[in-house]
Amino acid sequence: MTVVVLGGGLAGVACAHKLGDEGVDVVLVDRNDYHQFQPLLYQVATSQLPAEDIARPHRTIFRDYPSVEVVTAHVEEVSLADRTLRLADGRTLAGSHLVLAAGSRPNFFGVPGADEHAFPLYSVADAERLRLHLQEQVRAAGSGAAEDDGTLDVVVVGGGPTGVETTGALAELMTAWATTGLTPYRGQITLVDRGDALLGAFNKKAHRYSLEKLSERGATVKLEAGVAAVHVDRVEIDDGTSIRARTVVWGGGESGSAVAQGSGAPTGRGGRVDAQPDLTVEGFPGVYAVGDVANIPDADGAALPQLGSVAQQSGTWAAENILRERHGSGPTPFHYKDKGIMAMIGRNAAVAEVGKGRHQVEGPLAFAAWLGVHASLLSGAHSRTDAFLTWAWDYFDRDHAATVEASSTPKRIAWGDRETDVPHISLDERPTTTTPRQGDRGGATHE
Ligand SMILES: Cc1cc2nc3c(=O)[nH]c(=O)nc-3n(C[C@H](O)[C@H](O)[C@H](O)COP(=O)(O)OP(=O)(O)OC[C@H]3O[C@@H](n4cnc5c(N)ncnc54)[C@H](O)[C@@H]3O)c2cc1C
Repeated sequence: MTVVVLGGGLAGVACAHKLGDEGVDVVLVDRNDYHQFQPLLYQVATSQLPAEDIARPHRTIFRDYPSVEVVTAHVEEVSLADRTLRLADGRTLAGSHLVLAAGSRPNFFGVPGADEHAFPLYSVADAERLRLHLQEQVRAAGSGAAEDDGTLDVVVVGGGPTGVETTGALAELMTAWATTGLTPYRGQITLVDRGDALLGAFNKKAHRYSLEKLSERGATVKLEAGVAAVHVDRVEIDDGTSIRARTVVWGGGESGSAVAQGSGAPTGRGGRVDAQPDLTVEGFPGVYAVGDVANIPDADGAALPQLGSVAQQSGTWAAENILRERHGSGPTPFHYKDKGIMAMIGRNAAVAEVGKGRHQVEGPLAFAAWLGVHASLLSGAHSRTDAFLTWAWDYFDRDHAATVEASSTPKRIAWGDRETDVPHISLDERPTTTTPRQGDRGGATHE
C-alpha cells in the first residue's frame, strides 16, 4: 500500500502523520518545500513575524517518519481513475490511495483589475509580497509622495475573519508608523464588504463588537458596498464612488485549488471537490478529498467551513479510513469536533463563539480560546507550541506597536529549530487565481 498525498498543508500533514505513525508508505507532494500556517499570514504581512516562523520545511516535520517520503514539485495533472499525479518535472507518481489536500486559491470573482492590483493573502509568498509593498509605500511617503495620492492608504476587501483581522493589524501598524515618525502622516484604511455586517457567520453582538474595535483603531468600514474594479491607485465601488488607495488587500473569496478542479472530480460550491460523508470521492475508489479543497458535508449535509480544524481533523480521518480499508473494514463518515469560531481583531480585541450554544466571549477570554485552537493546529508541524504561546501572549497583551511593528526585525517565535531547517521561500511566481462561482471565505468563519 502506498498513499499519495497531494498538498502539505494542515490536512495533508495530518493525514501523512497518522499514516506514518502506522508505518504506511506515504508520498507527500507539495510545490513548496515547506508547510505554511495560514492563520498567521497577516502577522507576516504586517511585520510582526518573519515569514520563516510560519513556514516549516516538510522534511523537518517528517524527519522521524521513515515511511513518509516528501517530494517538492508542482503537480500539473491529477488522474483520479488510476490515482496518478503528473509532476511539472515530468515524473509520475501513483498510489493505491490518493488523498487530495491541495487547499484553495483566491477567487477574484472576475472583478476587473483585482487579479493584477490586489494583494491576496493565502500563502507565505503573498504575505511577503504585501509586506515588501507596504515598505515601499512607507519609503515613498518618507520621500515626499503626496498624501492625497493614496500612498499610505489601504483598502481591505472582505468583512469575514481574514478581512477583519488584517484590517485590525494594518490599522495598528499604520498608527505605529505615524507615531514613531516612520511616516509623515497616517494613511486611511477602509474595509469594504457587500454584506450588511462584519463577521457575518458570527452573531449580532460580534458584528457590533468587531465594528467598534476596528473603528477604535481608526479603520473605516463601508458595508453594503461591492467592489466594481481595482486600479493601481483606487478602488471603484458599485455605487459609483471610489476610494483612493495604493494598497488593496483581497480577503474577498477563495475557491478550490486549480489542480483539483481540473481533475474531473465532482465539484460544487466554490469549485471545491464534493467529498462524500466518509471523505471519499464518488466514482473514484481509493480517492479522498480533505481540507479546503473539499466540500465536506456535516451531519446535516451542509458543507463545513474552510477552517484549520476541519482541515486537520479531516486529514486524520481520511488516514484512519485508509487504515480501516487496510484492515478489511469500510470507511466511516467523518465527525467534526466543532471547536467554535473566533477572530482576533487586534491587541486586546478578540471575539469567539464556543460550545454547543455558541456562547460568545470577548477580549482576553476569546484570545485564550484562539490560542488553544491555534496551538493545537500548530502542533502538527511543531513540537514547541509553548514558544508560540509565549510569543502570542506578548503580542496580545502589550502595546509595543511602536517598538516592534515599526522595526524591521520582528520578534521571533523561539521554535528551537536547527540552522538547517530553513524553508525556501520564493516570490517569483504569483499563484494562478480563479474567477468562477461562489465560495467566499471572506464571509466564512475561522477558529
Ligand atoms: C489569511 C487566512 C487566515 C486564516 N485564519 C484561520 C484561523 O485563524 N483559524 C482557522 O481555523 N483557519 C484559518 N484559516 C483557514 C485555514 O488556514 C485553512 O482552512 C487550512 O489551512 C486549510 O488547510 P489545507 O491543508 O486544506 O490547505 P492548505 O494549507 O492551503 O495546503 C494546501 C497545500 O497544497 C499545495 N498545493 C496546491 N496545489 C498544488 C499543486 N498543483 N502542486 C503541488 N502542491 C500544491 C500548496 O502548496 C499547499 O501547501 C485562514 C486562512 C487564511 C487564508
